[in-house]
Amino acid sequence: MAFPVIYPKHLQEQMKIAGSAKAIMCGYCGNENYSDSDLWVCSHCENPNQASLITISLNDPVLMGAIASTNKLLQQNYVRGALAEYEKVTKNYADPGFIYYYALLHIQASNYEVSQIRYDRKGFMEENATHRSAASDFASKARRLLFKTAVVCQKNMAEDQKNPLLPFVLFMASVKLGNLRTAKRAVEQLSQLESPLLLKYADMLYNMELGKYDIAASRALEMTKKGFMSINAFYYISLALLKVGRIDMAQTLLGAYGKYVQNNSVNALAGAIAAEEKV
Ligand SMILES: [Zn+2]
Repeated sequence: MAFPVIYPKHLQEQMKIAGSAKAIMCGYCGNENYSDSDLWVCSHCENPNQASLITISLNDPVLMGAIASTNKLLQQNYVRGALAEYEKVTKNYADPGFIYYYALLHIQASNYEVSQIRYDRKGFMEENATHRSAASDFASKARRLLFKTAVVCQKNMAEDQKNPLLPFVLFMASVKLGNLRTAKRAVEQLSQLESPLLLKYADMLYNMELGKYDIAASRALEMTKKGFMSINAFYYISLALLKVGRIDMAQTLLGAYGKYVQNNSVNALAGAIAAEEKV
């Protein structure tokens, strides 16, 4: 398959449509998302959100309070405090999406510790060792939580075979674990349920993982059409463009996307594009 033809101007117009949709809070991480449909994938944690379930979450003051204080602690870089706060959520709510986000917070904590390691100053070796060990602890906790997410999804799927959110979260956790066999099976399970957007999204990520950037980009393009839109698709088109060496176009699209969505993934991709430009 050839890499699909990309029309940046047209995509920027489509992005405007996506970005003009109503902003709805993610029921797992509290991020504001643009969506004009009843089912969407969060631009921050990539948990699937369903309008009916989100309404329940948004009306739950205990849950909303815990998510808000987690985010406040994260902004203050008090990562351990944020983890302790969010742990309460995973204890009180059975939805595996909460465990999945808790795992992502551990990955973030691990990355934060790695970022604190400095090789350029003398006499900081002991401090580096502390950060390295903390990073490794957070990373292994993240893996355990991703396993737990997968186990809970599979258990719930045995009881509720009609819920497309479960195989989707199973897919996300499996990809993060590098378990592509389970991820593939989750895509197959998703294809049995009538949830075309989640299926398309998972299929896009699966092909991205396999390095089939042409297929991934064409799946993403299908999600830039009105009525069947995920604003995250524009991010993945930029990523696919970077992977196939189309740096300028990747940068143009990401620049437009960054007006609507700001998060660590966008910053990291912008950094990767900038690094390629220097080569
Ligand atoms: Zn989220």
